[in-house]
Amino acid sequence: MFLRLFEMKRANPALAVALLATLALAAIGCGDAAEPGSVGDPLEVTFLANEGFLLHSGDSKVLIDGLFREGVDGYGKLTLEQRELIETAEAPFNTVDYVLATHLHDDHFNPLASCRYLNANPLAEIITTRQAAERIEKSCNDFGKLNTRIRVGLNEDASVGSTSLDSLVIESIRLHHGATSQVDNLGFRVTIGGRTIVHLGDTQVSPDEMRAAGMADKPVDIAFVPYWYMIDDDWLPAVTEVINPRLIVVMHLPPEGSRHLTTYGGWEPLVGTIKHRFKNAVVFSQPFETQIF
Ligand SMILES: [Zn+2]
Repeated sequence: MFLRLFEMKRANPALAVALLATLALAAIGCGDAAEPGSVGDPLEVTFLANEGFLLHSGDSKVLIDGLFREGVDGYGKLTLEQRELIETAEAPFNTVDYVLATHLHDDHFNPLASCRYLNANPLAEIITTRQAAERIEKSCNDFGKLNTRIRVGLNEDASVGSTSLDSLVIESIRLHHGATSQVDNLGFRVTIGGRTIVHLGDTQVSPDEMRAAGMADKPVDIAFVPYWYMIDDDWLPAVTEVINPRLIVVMHLPPEGSRHLTTYGGWEPLVGTIKHRFKNAVVFSQPFETQIF
């Protein structure tokens, strides 16, 4: 059996029924996620590139969209040395509990990098889309010994899935990558260090779709939002009214010199516009830049 859904990490099988009952409650919004402001340990956020981040608070670490390789032209890239550090689970990328991959595009995910990381960090599990998990299965010689640590975030008919480890709770939420896109995209709601963060991946859902996906159901401390939501008046209410976070980390900004910046007049005008509209926007500009919240 492979690609088992929500297999409990490090769980005693005898507890599985009770734990699954707890997870079912969490999945419909009755979990014990902390309210915004009930702060535990500091939350350290390290930017990688595109929508890649390492979250670290207390004993918990989550790596999101950080296992990619060459990336995509016009978007963020990492040096080979930086990628080696991540894939070989060198500090600070050691002791990661969960690796989350929102979707299989090359600027977010690479199947071989994912296998290599799982071998380097035997405690980590990956939660991703079925498409990305199948790509790992096809690409990875070690799939047979790694498959129990590769989870599909959602069944085809589910809208929210959930898994947890001590104080760390991960919920997967279906948020499409474009109304007609064939690429599945997951948003993640992560409770870490007493804070609730959401990471939207490359979604293009409308404000109504954002609400229907349950993104207004829980207060959010920090939302990781692709920049296109911050400059489009039609999409903007998805952030300001539906998610309504305390802070917004702006994601997927094209790097300086990218052709994708020409329509905005460059990096500074684009970031300036976003910061003018959103006083609570946080922008990371360099790979491996860390901020503490
Ligand atoms: Zn994408």
